[in-house]
Amino acid sequence: MTDLLLREVRLASQPTQTVDVLVRDGAIAAVARGLSAPDGVPVEDARGLLVVPGLIDAHCHVDKTLWGGPWVPHTAGARLVDRIAHERTQRAALGLPSADNATALLRHMATLGTARVRTHTDVDPGIGLEGIEAVAKAAAAVAGIIDVEQVAFPQDGVLRRPGTLELLDEALSAGATTLGGIDPAGVDGDPVRQLDAMFDLAARHDARMDIHLHDGGTLGAWQFGLVIERTVAFGLQGKVAISHADSLGDLTDSERGHLAKRLGDAGVALVTAAVYDVAVPPLAEMRSHGVTVASGSDGIRDLWGPFGNGDMLERAMHVAYRTWLRRDEDIELALDTATYGAAAVLGVADYGLAPGCRADFSLVDARTPAEAVVARPRRELVVKGGRIVARAGELVQP
Ligand SMILES: [Zn+2]
Repeated sequence: MTDLLLREVRLASQPTQTVDVLVRDGAIAAVARGLSAPDGVPVEDARGLLVVPGLIDAHCHVDKTLWGGPWVPHTAGARLVDRIAHERTQRAALGLPSADNATALLRHMATLGTARVRTHTDVDPGIGLEGIEAVAKAAAAVAGIIDVEQVAFPQDGVLRRPGTLELLDEALSAGATTLGGIDPAGVDGDPVRQLDAMFDLAARHDARMDIHLHDGGTLGAWQFGLVIERTVAFGLQGKVAISHADSLGDLTDSERGHLAKRLGDAGVALVTAAVYDVAVPPLAEMRSHGVTVASGSDGIRDLWGPFGNGDMLERAMHVAYRTWLRRDEDIELALDTATYGAAAVLGVADYGLAPGCRADFSLVDARTPAEAVVARPRRELVVKGGRIVARAGELVQP
């Protein structure tokens, strides 16, 4: 059933009164007071709960997760290259990548009102397309509950692992719609050659790009420039994102402002996970330069760390808390990274709560979006494509 009438819904834009929301054929048909239910359309009393647009996790790695499996104490070394190497040696023994683990996590995320994820799936000569296949299997298992976009992700490098570029090419033909990336300098040691090859590959597949860039300081900032130049040269404005972007935290205010303007002009977005002590982009400043910012969980209980729970209201809270955002309108900017900002970065059409938008949303016991981010209340009702998929924090079995 993809028709529904919700009575007494609280909108962020009208916090002092409630409205009714009519859903027809999986899309929002009307938002107004006193709507009547057409014949056969079920009615749900929202009791004044706040409606939150379908949350989007714009950066996760469900192929790596141990969710649903045993607790695995963290034993990797401290450096990025240590964690990459550690994962290569441990993953097979732990049954990774696991379609079952990924399915369990995606189902959990759906109960948290997450309507869509962009997940970076490892592709390398050791594992081939096994991860892409496992995540595709998980995506099929959760179809209708949560949408899954796969990024073909060269976690272990591109140039330093011969054969990876060809595998990424195959992955983009096998269902991945976005090409990932990993520190062109820090991991591959040849940023110009790596980025030239990757942009050429993305353009050939008409794929979006989302590049992990952990390199800090001027080395990281310089690679921003390389990404910006190629985004424009290949006509990929609006389709390229840089994830993590650690170096932003190392720049002076004027250097960061100059870089943000270049990002905005080139339509290159940022994706933050607000993890550990990695700098979070200053949201208002980025917005003033036209830079779209999305957020995501990054790793969730995997060999990269034991943390994460897939809750995008909690992620928005981390984004706000880490950047000293306390006013309601500022906290709403943090939530935007998990809603409208993320939708823009992922190129999701028909997103939002207006008539014509796809009916993906959840209801929470909060008076305003800021309160929802601060309190992270249970998702009382989750609607996906007009269908109720979860109620009181539990999936509704089809
Ligand atoms: Zn990541």
